[in-house]
Amino acid sequence: MTSVLIVGALLLLILCLPVDLFRSKTAPGEPDARADERDVMFARMARAEGTPEYEDYYSRRPELKRTDDRIRAMTPLFEPGSKHYDPVISLEAGKYFRDIYEIEPDIESVETWKRRLEEGADQTLVVKEMVKALGAAAVGFTRIRPGYIYSRKGRFAEDYGEPVVLDHPGAILFLVEMDFDEMQKAPGVEVLRESAHQYWRAAVISMTVVDVLKGAGFSAKAHYDAHYDLILPPLAVEAGLGELGGDNILIADRYGSRVRIGAVSTDMDLAESLPIRLAADEFCTICMKCAENCPSRALSVGEKEDVRGVEKWPTDAEKCYAFWRQTGSDCGICMTVCPFSHRNNLFHNSVRSVIRLNPWIRYIALRFDDLIYGRKWKPQGD
Ligand code: SF4
Ligand code: SF4
Repeated sequence: MTSVLIVGALLLLILCLPVDLFRSKTAPGEPDARADERDVMFARMARAEGTPEYEDYYSRRPELKRTDDRIRAMTPLFEPGSKHYDPVISLEAGKYFRDIYEIEPDIESVETWKRRLEEGADQTLVVKEMVKALGAAAVGFTRIRPGYIYSRKGRFAEDYGEPVVLDHPGAILFLVEMDFDEMQKAPGVEVLRESAHQYWRAAVISMTVVDVLKGAGFSAKAHYDAHYDLILPPLAVEAGLGELGGDNILIADRYGSRVRIGAVSTDMDLAESLPIRLAADEFCTICMKCAENCPSRALSVGEKEDVRGVEKWPTDAEKCYAFWRQTGSDCGICMTVCPFSHRNNLFHNSVRSVIRLNPWIRYIALRFDDLIYGRKWKPQGD
C-alpha cells in the first residue's frame, strides 16, 4: 500500500512539474510587409461588378476574380435562401450591423469619464477601469508596430486604395465576450446574431472611449467593424490579451476564441501591458480540433507556414466565407469547439492555468476534453 502511495505521489509530482513556467511569452512577430485591406475577404466582397473599384482590383489580382465572382453570386448572408436563414434572427443580426452607423455615445457617461481622466493620477488605470465599466471583458495597451497597420484602405468605394495614415503611437485593445450558450448553436444563425451583437457592443465602447479621450485633449480613433486601420488579433496578443490559435484567431485568457476585439488608437501615453502565456501555441500543435471540425476544410492540420514573414497556420478565407454564404451564418464552429473556449468558471480556469506547466498535463487535458465534450463537434439541439 505504501509503495502504491509513493508511486502515486511521484507521478503526481512529475505531472505538476512546472517545466514550461519560465518559457518566454509567445509573440506573433511583426510581418515584413503591411497588408492591403483591399485583399481582405469582406473588402473583396464589397466590390460590385462594373464599378471602377471592381475593374481596378481584378486587373491587379486577376487570379482571384473567378473565385470571388462565384462567392458573390451566392445568397447574401442576411437574405432568404441559405440553409440557416431565419426571418427573425437573420433580420436582428443585420440590424445590429446597421445600427453601428447610428451609435451616439452616452453624453453623461462621456462627461463622467472625462472628469475622472482629468482628475486621475494614473491615467492608465482610469482608462482600464473605464473600458471595463463600459462592458469589456478584458483590456490592454500596446504600442503600434507599423506591420500591423493596413497599407491601403479597401472596404468602401469612397476611400478605396487610399494610403492608411495613422500616426498614433499606441492603442487600447479590448475584448467583448460572445455568449457561451449562443455559441453552442454553431453553425446556426444564432451565431451570426451573437457576432453582430458583439461587433455592435465593441463599436459602442470604442466610440465612447474616443469621445472621452478627445474631450480630455488627446487624439484618438475608433477601430470597429468595417472601419479598421489596424490588424487587431496580433495587437491584442501584444496587449497581453491572449495568444493566436490554430484557427488564426485570438485565444483569450478565460474566454478562448469566444471574443470580439475592439480598439482605440491614441497619442495618450499609456503604460504597455505585458504579454501573457497561455501555452496555446503548444496546445494547438497537439489539438487541431478546430481544423478537423471545420466543415469547409479552411483550416490547416499541417505545419505552420510563412505568411508575410510570420509563421502561422494558414487559413483559406475563400473556403470559410463561401461556407458562411451557403449556410447564412458566420459558422463559429472553430471558435466554439476550441477547448480554450469553455465557460469562464473556476474549474475551467484551473485547467487553463495548469496546462501552462508542462506538455504531459496538456496531453491529459486534451484527452479528457475529447472524452467529455467529444472530438467531433455536435451543435446544441442536434
Ligand atoms: S468559421 Fe467555420 S468554416 Fe470558417 S474556419 Fe471556422 S469552422 Fe471553418
Ligand atoms: S481548437 Fe485546438 S488547435 Fe484549434 S485553436 Fe483551439 S486549441 Fe488551438
